[in-house]
Amino acid sequence: MTHELPPLPYKHDALAPHISQETLEYHHDKHHATYVSKLNNLIPDTEFESRELEDIVRTAPAGGIFNNAAQVWNHTFYFAGMTPGGGGAPGGPIAEAIDARWGGFEVFRKEFDEAAAGNFGSGWTWLVRTGGGDLEIVNTSNAGCPITDGHTPLLCVDVWEHAYYIDTRNARPKYLENWWNVVDWNMVNERFSG
Ligand code: MN
Repeated sequence: MTHELPPLPYKHDALAPHISQETLEYHHDKHHATYVSKLNNLIPDTEFESRELEDIVRTAPAGGIFNNAAQVWNHTFYFAGMTPGGGGAPGGPIAEAIDARWGGFEVFRKEFDEAAAGNFGSGWTWLVRTGGGDLEIVNTSNAGCPITDGHTPLLCVDVWEHAYYIDTRNARPKYLENWWNVVDWNMVNERFSG
């Protein structure tokens, strides 16, 4: 099967000024698109040729097929977790679960920020529900994706430099501050309740 680049779920300028149009043009139209085309180039004549994307992420060994498949999955999840007019504190079931686990949103946000700022090199920071049903903050490196550890991802932030270098240069904490303004808590609640 041929994997396709999912369209960005909003216009390229919709997250500005928090995430710029230029960043989304590079990040979605070039970086995300390139992972899709590389995956499509790698899978013909392999056991992964006709597998669904998530199945490839779960089963491919370390290497190019895993890296590109996971980066396709991660980016689709990341872009879908942002929305114009998002941000603020969550409501609904996820807010109650965060309060129960961390004692409040601000405590959770601080711990998430520390994990994301401290995630060495390229990678991702996630809020997940573990197989045991607990909420946890998890860092992955490079293309790492928590579904390979049996977690259910609820929210993620991309901390590869390509996610923020145009907007905030080397300042990852400033990017994180901007990103919180576009987090789609309705989507996180859907994923949490799904
Ligand atoms: Mn990225």
